[in-house]
Amino acid sequence: CGIVGFTGNNYQSAPILLKGLQKLEYRGYDSAGLYVADQADGTDQLVKENGRVSELVKLVSEKNVKGTAGIAHTRWATHGSPSVANAHPHVSADGRFYLVHNGVIENYLELKDDYLANVTFQSDTDTEVAVQLIDKFVKEGATTFEALKKLIALLDSNSAYGFLLMDREEPERMYVAKQKSPLLIGIGADFNVVTSDAVAMLDQTHDFIELHDGEVAIVDPDNVQLFSAAGEAMDREPFHLDIDA
Ligand code: GLU
Repeated sequence: CGIVGFTGNNYQSAPILLKGLQKLEYRGYDSAGLYVADQADGTDQLVKENGRVSELVKLVSEKNVKGTAGIAHTRWATHGSPSVANAHPHVSADGRFYLVHNGVIENYLELKDDYLANVTFQSDTDTEVAVQLIDKFVKEGATTFEALKKLIALLDSNSAYGFLLMDREEPERMYVAKQKSPLLIGIGADFNVVTSDAVAMLDQTHDFIELHDGEVAIVDPDNVQLFSAAGEAMDREPFHLDIDA
């Protein structure tokens, strides 16, 4: 339903992500969660909660979550009932990859049967199939970026996704992909953000690059790389959003 991501080495990402989720509450949701990784000490944490963002806020402060980059999600369940297990981020079997997803993967059951018969699933969502597939492709030798490209090539054209992916081996970096669900990359002086709705990140920046269907991006604290659906590196100027937070 709603997605936010942040990466910037001089910042704590969790408070920024939680504030972003609260700005997305107007859209409606049934559960929420975040994954945060710390570039300096290599730690990471996954926190998910059924119900309101305020409950997630409480849990995050109890767990003393810290980290310079992270991804967060408010869920509106389409596949799998509202629950902590079905809340995003979803995680690959060995805990390396973390994914939040807006939208629906229409052919997830076929993909599960065809590619993931040996994987033990931790949720009933369509989304978990995507993160387990990325893990499988990486284990077979793909880079994380190649695995994301392979995944989206397998998704039925009726599917909708805004994907935001983190690899715990690259704790500063977010991978982004988009089809039918909205996704914006927000540009900061020494950080970058990703969001499904500019409203969530207006306290951080008013300069956004719009991702188009089929495009993929790699977002680091000081750099954004955009790729066309055909896989070519490309540039797009940010637009300035002249509204108040
Ligand atoms: N289809 C996914 C799920 O049910 C994502 C739903 C959403 O966009 O919030 O978990």
